Amino acid sequence: MPATSPADRPLRVAVIGGGIGGLTLGLALRARGLRAEIYEQAAELAEIGAAVALSANATRELERLGLGPALAAVSTEPTELIFRDGRSGARVAAHPVRDGGAYGRRFGAPYYGVHRADLQTVLSGALAGEGLHLGHRLAALDQRGDVMALTFANGVEVEADLVVGGDGVRSAVRRWITGGERVRYSGTSAFRGVVPMGLLPSLPDPEAIQFWMGPDAHLLHYAIGGTADSVNFFAVVEGPAAWTAERWLCGIGPGEHRAGFAGWHPAVIEMLDALPQSRRWGLFVTDPLRRWHRGRAVLMGDSAHAMLPHHGQGANTTIEDAVTLAELLAAGGARDLGGTMRHYQGLRQRRTRTIQRSAWATNRLLHLPDAAGPDALAERDARMARFPEDFGWIHAFDARAAVTEAIDGIRVDLLKDL
Ligand SMILES: Cc1cc2nc3c(=O)[nH]c(=O)nc-3n(C[C@H](O)[C@H](O)[C@H](O)COP(=O)(O)OP(=O)(O)OC[C@H]3O[C@@H](n4cnc5c(N)ncnc54)[C@H](O)[C@@H]3O)c2cc1C
Repeated sequence: MPATSPADRPLRVAVIGGGIGGLTLGLALRARGLRAEIYEQAAELAEIGAAVALSANATRELERLGLGPALAAVSTEPTELIFRDGRSGARVAAHPVRDGGAYGRRFGAPYYGVHRADLQTVLSGALAGEGLHLGHRLAALDQRGDVMALTFANGVEVEADLVVGGDGVRSAVRRWITGGERVRYSGTSAFRGVVPMGLLPSLPDPEAIQFWMGPDAHLLHYAIGGTADSVNFFAVVEGPAAWTAERWLCGIGPGEHRAGFAGWHPAVIEMLDALPQSRRWGLFVTDPLRRWHRGRAVLMGDSAHAMLPHHGQGANTTIEDAVTLAELLAAGGARDLGGTMRHYQGLRQRRTRTIQRSAWATNRLLHLPDAAGPDALAERDARMARFPEDFGWIHAFDARAAVTEAIDGIRVDLLKDL
């Protein structure tokens, strides 16, 4: 089929992956009158992982897409952000979130704990199946002139003007763009689960988001659901030194999940033991990429910048990516896709890389060993007390405002050239 100039007809966007990023991009493009075809390998949109914490940098965008009430109905807003000593349970630092409306007043949008399945239902419900193709695993990608040719494992072949890799940390689109795997085991692993609140009698401040910190390990949890009926927890330990399992999950022996938490507070042990634990999650990150795009393919979300989850920003920055890309494409990027991709990378790369790096540094702080000494531990506690001042920039970010400002700048430059 001859390649048609994208300027002659609506841009054909193929999004690989119907995860948080792919679905948000579909909605953000639709809000700007563009259509995306979203190809998801799974036969149905099932829950991946347990829950996710959404901060203002993402919730303001989801609210702009009209999802505010649906999201609020299935989410819990934490009362406070609390850092505790993992063994004694002492409060090291605490910052109000829902209490007194502090977070909303400061950042202009809510902070939510939400079950992933619920978030996916809100996103896919809004999309109402439009352009969503389940059971389509991308098997091959090829660029022929200005047209991308996609082949799926089910034998379906399609063409697109632009392919967006929203296909997660083990992205096939990234392999096509960079020619390599670019994914790295972080040397840390995790145990996780969603526990009914009733099984946690020792848990203080059950509706807060809390970090319990100790040597070589930490546990994070927050309440989820419209009535805060469950707690999502995520317990991270150093090691194993190497990851030998083929995927990011491996089986564990009895009691293995508790080994890094001997002598910790009863609330931590209750959480770890509330459900049978049979799996360890390896935590993987994407190595910084020089280029997020090649030809007519571009990356978003975990495929471009999978990060350690210690700032809870993987999904949030993915939502920022989706909004940024949609706005640039809607602003006429179809006429100069190469330029659009460069602007997109320029807007997104530095911010996501900074958060990626900061998440590594936060891991070290959260896992500080006693041997680091009292001065280092006191400095850690002081940093947790300064958390809103030091990290407010992550939550205050307004992706729509940033891209709008950039688009205005591009228009001014174009006018200068006339
Ligand atoms: C334990 C843990 C806890 C986390 N907690 C938080 C948190 O609290 N807050 C936060 O912001 N982030 C969190 N994250 C990160 C967050 O989950 C990810 O950053 C986010 O899901 C990335 O979205 P995505 O759309 O890029 O990828 P994904 O959500 O992984 O979606 C990728 C999709 O692509 C599909 N796919 C893959 N390959 C193909 C193919 N070849 N063809 C077709 N489809 C394909 C997959 O089936 C999947 O549906 C956490 C991550 C982990 C591991």
